[in-house]
Amino acid sequence: MHELGITQSIVDIAERTTRKHGGGRVRSVTVEIGELSGVIPDAVEFCFEVCSKGTLLEGARLVIETVPGQGRCPQCQTEQAIDNYSFACENCGAFGLERVRGEELRIKELEVD
Ligand SMILES: [Zn+2]
Repeated sequence: MHELGITQSIVDIAERTTRKHGGGRVRSVTVEIGELSGVIPDAVEFCFEVCSKGTLLEGARLVIETVPGQGRCPQCQTEQAIDNYSFACENCGAFGLERVRGEELRIKELEVD
């Protein structure tokens, strides 16, 4: 389960950022997870408690915002909702949809005491 490693890095980055700003305990952390990123939000949530134990994030609320996949057609420039199994444009049928959104995995917000 690679979500364990991902959650570990989320906790690491959040803790480093909090220390850099001289903060105390983290009250909540908001993470954006794109639907095309291959990361399963439920699994991150499951790992969070273990990974945050003994860190500034222990007991913090984890807020996960999922970002739907969005693609753009290289031919007709139509933007459309896509998932990992979308290959052809729904408008003109061209292949090679460009991913515009949905691959993100980042910390959006940290609420610190
Ligand atoms: Zn198209």
